[in-house]
This record gives sequence, structure tokens and C-alpha cells, in this order.
Amino acid sequence: MPVYKAPTRDTRFIINELLQLEQHSGLPGFENASADMIDVVVEECGKFCSEVLAPLNLSGDQEGCTRHADGTVTTPKGFKEAHAQFREAGWGTLSAPEEFGGQGMPHVLGMMAEEFISSANQAWGMYPGLTNGAVSAILVKGSPEQQAKYLPKMIANEWLGTMNLTEPHCGTDLGLIRTRAVPNADGSYAITGTKIFISAGDHDLTENIIHLVLAKTPDAPDSTKGISLFIVPKVLVNDDGSLGDRNAVSCGSIEHKMGIHANATCVMNYDGATGWMVGEENKGLAAMFIMMNAARLGVGIQGLSQAEAAYQNAVKYAGERRQGRALTGPAEPNEKADTLFVHPDIRRMLMDAKAFTEGMRALCLWGALQVDLSHKAASEEERQMADDLISLLTPVIKGYGTDKGFDTCVQMQQVFGGHGFIEEWGMSQFVRDCRITQIYEGANGVQAMDLVGRKLAMQGGRAVQAFFALVDAECAAAKAKPQLEALAGQIEKANGELKAATMWLMQNGMMNPNNAGAGAHHYMHIMGIVSLGLMWLRMADLAAAKLAEGSEDQAFYEAKLVTARYFGERYTPDAGALRRKLETGGEAMMALPVEMFATA
Ligand SMILES: Cc1cc2nc3c(=O)[nH]c(=O)nc-3n(C[C@H](O)[C@H](O)[C@H](O)COP(=O)(O)OP(=O)(O)OC[C@H]3O[C@@H](n4cnc5c(N)ncnc54)[C@H](O)[C@@H]3O)c2cc1C
Repeated sequence: MPVYKAPTRDTRFIINELLQLEQHSGLPGFENASADMIDVVVEECGKFCSEVLAPLNLSGDQEGCTRHADGTVTTPKGFKEAHAQFREAGWGTLSAPEEFGGQGMPHVLGMMAEEFISSANQAWGMYPGLTNGAVSAILVKGSPEQQAKYLPKMIANEWLGTMNLTEPHCGTDLGLIRTRAVPNADGSYAITGTKIFISAGDHDLTENIIHLVLAKTPDAPDSTKGISLFIVPKVLVNDDGSLGDRNAVSCGSIEHKMGIHANATCVMNYDGATGWMVGEENKGLAAMFIMMNAARLGVGIQGLSQAEAAYQNAVKYAGERRQGRALTGPAEPNEKADTLFVHPDIRRMLMDAKAFTEGMRALCLWGALQVDLSHKAASEEERQMADDLISLLTPVIKGYGTDKGFDTCVQMQQVFGGHGFIEEWGMSQFVRDCRITQIYEGANGVQAMDLVGRKLAMQGGRAVQAFFALVDAECAAAKAKPQLEALAGQIEKANGELKAATMWLMQNGMMNPNNAGAGAHHYMHIMGIVSLGLMWLRMADLAAAKLAEGSEDQAFYEAKLVTARYFGERYTPDAGALRRKLETGGEAMMALPVEMFATA
């Protein structure tokens, strides 16, 4: 049975010591976020995830979800009870607005909870997970009546939410949507169409499910400019808030899929279901993007979460499994063989994972702080800077975070040798579950294009220039400190590769857009390396300071310094190789006629 224990020490290090949430105590929601309070929240949330959710991960994978003849779906044994405990403890309400029953705490804490929940049980976590995005969309675009009717129950996790974009013929290209919304006399709409791949489309965790559905009204342009967003509850809600009739929406089937078996991925049939428009007609995509941006950060966290869970198991296994001898001679001569830990190749995989998970955790929590600051910072300048940075880095957190998260799961499986391939060890599940993170919420190729095609050009490149300047300034300051000099130089060099790649894309992407498309994936990875590098630089700086002041937790800070060094040595050189690949452009990639791809 795989193990999972929430990495609370590292999380507290990032939130309290690195981000120093306390320094923002003047901002709304941060007043009560003292270091002591954060310690308690992090530890308790970790306990819930490790003790309640993690034990259901393997059994949920084996059992899967069941659709019954009447279209209802039951989740695996224990899921419903875990949801009741989750709701009662209020873990889903941490950073939700107080106005609608949330705890109003910083988004950073909500992000912390998302990681722990997803590491413990990704499939379970997706039931409440999508609700956060649905809540954000209704908060920003919903009418006061819609907010009053749906938000308190959704925030309390009494009702959960879904997002319904995908149709059989329409995934990335949402302009192709066929689902129709025909106005009813009372201001509601009759929604008809089929949505596929809908996560948590039906289940038995709550008595109602609030679907957010993209559809086109009769006279709407047949393109992305004609899409509107609708609230379609599974059970209609009366004006007094009580539940009414069953709506004409049902789960037609559950997809058989590679992973996240315990999350019901549903084909949803809308047969004239009653829905209500959210926001303006034909502006549904903008409203849905609010949900998608929240979800994209959440999916980036999923990549980290599976890597972390797989890493913990690989560390345990490497310490117990004995095979071969250390290259330098027997490490434990009294044993017949040494543990896997003596082998540099095993160390390579474990250090790669450690450098990624700890760096990525810092990036995600720092990213969550930017979300908070973009709304709440005292000055317009700070709000804009935070908004620029998180907009720029959202596709990086999603795309790079899940690409590396999946790679890490595979490497951790490799540590197990053949046993990694055997289901009972659970490593296969981490690989299978993590795989979807690279695909949904906009496949990673689309994230890369979002970064290169949209985010770089935002406000004339304001965000990316701000990012370059931030990294350069911190590297310059760090170079003056002997312990950081080498790392700062390596990150500065990687940032130089990123700047050069940006320049190349600006010049050559304009000339031929295929040059931009051909390099987008590499570009996203270079920016991922630099972003993680910035986090490692900050963590190393802090660790060195803690050691200098004689901190009691010496081993923890020394490990940070070693891992930072490893990151500088083993991650940053890839930036140069990726840039060189990017600068070859799209010519060879696009040259062959389609028929030349056939091999038979
Ligand atoms: C388990 C699971 C859960 C899901 N949950 C939900 C959900 O809750 N709600 C929901 O609405 N959807 C959901 N989806 C759908 C998911 O978001 C889509 O599968 C995804 O967005 C890709 O769409 P597609 O599968 O149609 O692929 P396509 O759009 O056909 O893309 C195929 C490939 O082409 C690439 N591609 C397509 N267009 C471009 C382009 N313009 N530029 C560059 N590359 C391009 C893509 O990156 C991809 O690699 C889920 C899917 C799965 C498998």
C-alpha cells in the first residue's frame, strides 16, 4: 500500500518563512494569517489528507465509479463519508469569500490544501476541486440573485460544481460548440446538447450538482464570439432555496479511462434542461476563462501533487530495497547488498524529483500569493505587477508543472524497477493519474501557445519584461553573496537564454507563425526552469541566512542549500539546449507533406 504524509514542514517553510504572509497582515483576509495560525491550519489539513483521503486512493482506483440504469452515479466506498468529513471541517472554504460563508483567508492557504488533497487522492479531490472555479465564475459574472442562490451552498460544499465545455467534435476549438440555449418565456433557457468528458458530472457526494455549461443562443454567431455561459442545476432550486424537480440533465455513460478511475468522467445529456445565463450573452467564454484560469493553477498543483506522492514512495523504497554494492565499495559490509540509495543513478532520479517538487511548491504558493495581491495589494502598481506575473506564469505552472510532474512520476516508478510496473505498489497509479494533467484544462501544447501567442505580447510585453527584470535584479543581488554566487550565475544565464529565445520568437514568429508554434513548448520549459530557479535562489538565500543565525533546524536548511546547488547544476543547463532547439524554427518540422508521415 503506497504511503503519503503531507509535506507540512516544507509548506510551512514556504508560507511563513519565504513568503512571510505575516508581512501582508494589513490586507483584507491576511489579518488573521499569523505564523502560528498557519502552522495549525497546515498541520491539520495535512493530517486530514494523510489520514482520511490517502487510504482511499488505491481502493478508489480499483473500484472506480458505477453508473446505474437510472443514470445516477455512485463513487467508490468511503468517498461520500470522506466528503462529509471534509465539509464539516471546512477545508473547502479556506479562501472562499466570507460574504457567502467562506473563511476569507489568503488564496495561498487554499492552494496549500489543493496540493495535499490532490497528493492524497487526486480523483477524490476533483469533486470539490472544480467547484472552486465555478464559484469564481459566478462571483465575478453572476447576478446578485444567482450569487445568493448558489454560492453559499457551493462554498459550503453542500452542492458541488462542474464545467461543461467539451463536446464530441469540439475540444480545444470551442467555437465549434453545438449545444443550444433557446430562451424560455420566463427568462430561463432550454439547454440541449451533449457534453463529453465532464469531470464529476454525476456522483452521490451531494444532493445537487451545479453545472456551468457553454452553449449558443439561436441567433448567436457560430464561432467563439457566439458562446454564452449557463448555470444548469441537476436539481432545480426553488426561490426559497429548497430543492425542486429534477432537471433534464443526466449522465449517459462514464468514460473508461487510463487513470483517475474514482472520478466520474461523464457524458452529459442535456435534453431541454432549464438553465440561466451567467453574465452577458455571447460573452460566455470570458466568463468561463475565470473558471479555467483558476482550474489551470489547480491542474499545475495536480502535477506537483502526484510527483510528491510518487517521490515519497520512491524514497521509502530506495531506503529498504537492497541490490548491488556502492561503486565506491560496500556501504554496509555486514549486509549482503547495499540499499538502492548508494547508486548515483537512483540519486539522480530522487534529486531531480526533490529539486522539482520543492521548487514547484514554492512557485505555486508564490503564484497563489500573486493572485491574492492582484486583488488586494494596497497600490495599483503592486496589483498590476502581481496580475501581470500570475497571468504570464499561469500557462507555465500548468504546462511545465504537469510535464515535469508526469516525468517525475515515471522516474519514481523507475526507482522501483519491475515492482513499479505492478499495480499493488501504487506507482503505476501515480503515473496513470498524473497523465491527464498534461491533457485537460487546455492540453500543454495549447498552454505553450497561450504563453507565446498571447501572454508575451500582453501590454506590449510588459509582463515578460517585468519578469526578466525581477530575475536579473535578484541574481545581481545574490551574486554578491559567496554562498549564492554560483547559483545566481547559473540562473542569470538561464534567464539570458530566455531573453534571447523571446527575442528570437518576436523576430521570427512574426515572419512565420509556424516558427512560434514550433518553439512554444521549448519556450514554456525554459520559462519553467527560470521560474523554479528564481524560487531556488530565494530558498537558498533564506536557508543560508537561517544557518548563519544558528537555526536549530540545521539539517533542513542544509538540505535546501544542497538541493539548490543540484538545481543550478542539473536543471539550468537545459535552458541553453532548449533555446538552441527553438532557434531551429519550424521549417523541418513543417516541411513534409502529410502523406509522407505514413510508414506503410
Ligand atoms: C479525464 C478527462 C477529464 C476532463 N474533464 C473535463 C471537464 O470537466 N470539462 C470539460 O469541458 N472538459 C473536460 N475534459 C476535456 C479536456 O479538457 C479536453 O480533452 C482537452 O481540452 C483537449 O481537447 P480534445 O480532447 O478535444 O483534443 P483536441 O482539441 O482535438 O486536441 C488534440 C491535440 O491537438 C492539439 N491542438 C489542438 N488545437 C491546437 C492548436 N490550435 N494549436 C496547437 N495544438 C492544438 C492539442 O494540444 C492536443 O494535443 C476532460 C478530458 C478528460 C480526458
